[in-house]
This record gives sequence, structure tokens and C-alpha cells, in this order.
Amino acid sequence: MTEPVKSGGAVHFAAAALGRCPICTKGKLFKSFLKVAAQCSNCGTDFKAADTGDGPVVFVLLIAGFVTCFGMLYTFLAYNWPAWVHLVVWPLVACVLSLGLMSPLKGLMVAAQLKNRVRD
Ligand SMILES: [Zn+2]
Repeated sequence: MTEPVKSGGAVHFAAAALGRCPICTKGKLFKSFLKVAAQCSNCGTDFKAADTGDGPVVFVLLIAGFVTCFGMLYTFLAYNWPAWVHLVVWPLVACVLSLGLMSPLKGLMVAAQLKNRVRD
């Protein structure tokens, strides 16, 4: 049973970004780090119709890539960090940003698909 997200979308999208069900905002959206649960543990909403595919990865790459490249260029030009500092800092920043953004962005895409009644 797939229901569209009810009114008050911002709350539902925020809940999805935090890993909660975008319909009832209480049940779990993920059963593991990036694996979407089959259904909500609280309201029983079916999440199988919402397949995000590679959608969140595009936004993760754009956001993390921009922050990393801008930060690297800025610190290189403004502070003239040595090359080994760039080689240590920016890959770590890229990894942390990518892992940190993946789950919230996937939750947002699932909420958008449920809101727009995406079907297979
Ligand atoms: Zn729910």
C-alpha cells in the first residue's frame, strides 16, 4: 500500500532525511545504512515502489565534489598549504561528506517519489 505524502511536506521530507518514514514520521525508513526497508515498521507503508537507483549519488557527487574542490583550491591559493596536507585533508573531507550525505539524500529521494506517487 503506497500512499502519497500528506500535507505539511517539509516535516515529512525532514523526517525522511533523518531516516524516518516520510508518511508517519515515526517508523524506520532504512533497514541498514543505505538499504531501504520493505515497509514502514509503524504505519506499514510500502517502500518497494520507491526505487531511487543512482539518483542520490549524483547529488552527493555534486555537493561533495564542489565543497572539496573549492576548499582545496581556496586553501591552496589563500594559505599555500603544502601538497602533503592537501593529500591528507581533502580525500578525508570527500569521504566524510559522501558518507554523511548519502543517507539523508536517499531519504529525500524516497520521500519525493512517494509524494509524487511513483510506480514501477
Ligand atoms: Zn510510516
